[in-house]
Amino acid sequence: MGKKEERVHRLMNLNEHGVTDSEVVRALVALGNGERVELDTSRGLAPGLTEADGERFRRLISKAAEDPREFAEEFLPPPLGGRATNAGALKVLSLLKPRLALAVGAGPTASSGGRSATPMRLSLSYFHDYPDVESVLTYGLLLLLDSNREYGKSLSRCHLPSCSKFYLAKPNPKGGPANRYYCKPAHRDEAHNSKQNRKPRRPK
Ligand SMILES: [Zn+2]
Repeated sequence: MGKKEERVHRLMNLNEHGVTDSEVVRALVALGNGERVELDTSRGLAPGLTEADGERFRRLISKAAEDPREFAEEFLPPPLGGRATNAGALKVLSLLKPRLALAVGAGPTASSGGRSATPMRLSLSYFHDYPDVESVLTYGLLLLLDSNREYGKSLSRCHLPSCSKFYLAKPNPKGGPANRYYCKPAHRDEAHNSKQNRKPRRPK
């Protein structure tokens, strides 16, 4: 066993229930936070990331959180399809041939007010047959770049130095902007307190 127990973040991409976009993005966040991402499929566990690929993805995730523009230029240099374009990302796009998956299952079971008959539940989703962890995470990076989706805007990194965790900023329930600076209120307070205790800066 290693010195540190490595946490595993597992994605389930089964024929009857494909992994969802938000699950893919959350796996990127987990990878950025040092977890190992596994991809379970109906054929078994898919090949994982090499150490070098893990490093490359972590670097791209930091960039996406801290400097989305630079991330876009590095990951998919313009013009898309030109010489400098990320061939790996385009390969992933060409591999993905989604098919519509229909899952039929029982509704919420038991304990729901003593009703014995549970309504049938249907769910439709797009299923992508990702061959490995690299391809599912590459798709995740593309999701971050999609300006029609919120993932890229919500990917944040906690500004409390002792935390520095990646997270997806959720809209403030009381209204107002999502907190893109601190992963939780306690870390905002901690950062603000330590700022107050610091010596005032010398005037320039
Ligand atoms: Zn934090």
